[in-house]
Amino acid sequence: MICQTRRYYGGRRRRVRRTRRLFLVLLSAALLLLLITVLMRWLAAPPALAVIEPVGLSAQSEADAVGASDAGQDWQLILVNAQHALPDDFSVELADVGSGHSVDARIASALQVMLDDCRAAGLEPLICSSYRTQQIQQSLFDDKVQRLIAEGYAPDAAQAKAGTVVAVPGTSEHQTGLAVDLVDAGNQNLDETQEQTPVQQWLLAHSWEYGFVLRYPNDKSSVTGIIYEPWHYRYVGKDAARDMHEGGLCLEEYLQADGALAA
Ligand SMILES: [Zn+2]
Repeated sequence: MICQTRRYYGGRRRRVRRTRRLFLVLLSAALLLLLITVLMRWLAAPPALAVIEPVGLSAQSEADAVGASDAGQDWQLILVNAQHALPDDFSVELADVGSGHSVDARIASALQVMLDDCRAAGLEPLICSSYRTQQIQQSLFDDKVQRLIAEGYAPDAAQAKAGTVVAVPGTSEHQTGLAVDLVDAGNQNLDETQEQTPVQQWLLAHSWEYGFVLRYPNDKSSVTGIIYEPWHYRYVGKDAARDMHEGGLCLEEYLQADGALAA
């Protein structure tokens, strides 16, 4: 009886231990499975997080930028004129476009394609001015002031007049790398006769298709503050160039219409 009782209780303890071991094995397996699942999910997750973050950042900088109507478009709509000087810390990555000329690397291919298509039409466009440093702009401005003084202008009047022809250093679009002066090989004078050349006629009709606009049209001098320059082209991107071409707007007017610039 005693032995039977011992056998009875001994058998029951073994069954309890066996059940406990089985439970622990199953629990360990479940925890391991859970750990593997979490690890797999985590390994798949980082790329999704990495994509989300930059989008949020660019949306933020877009909201801060003047003239930005489309994501990442702010750089090509930068306004530089007598009232809007370039920031002191402005810098640009340049690309060589031949003959000692360079432009903002982001517009080099658009410029190249436009010039190639112009040549394919049987014409001879030439770049006569492109990116300028602050120092070069300063010496161009100083030269103009000196020539006007030699013509009889008082120094103050010469400074003011020079500013309508050669942009005051820090306010020239050429310092952005987004502007080029283009002429016809058959007439390289920077005056109003340029307008009648085959190259300018082609550019006036087609430059907007490549994202460029004639920046200082004849009827916009009162808005731009710069004389008619039928040779100075500015990259603004294809969307803005089309809108400005269709609406007959200069950059200042385009930015005002867009609400990015106070009227
Ligand atoms: Zn120019």
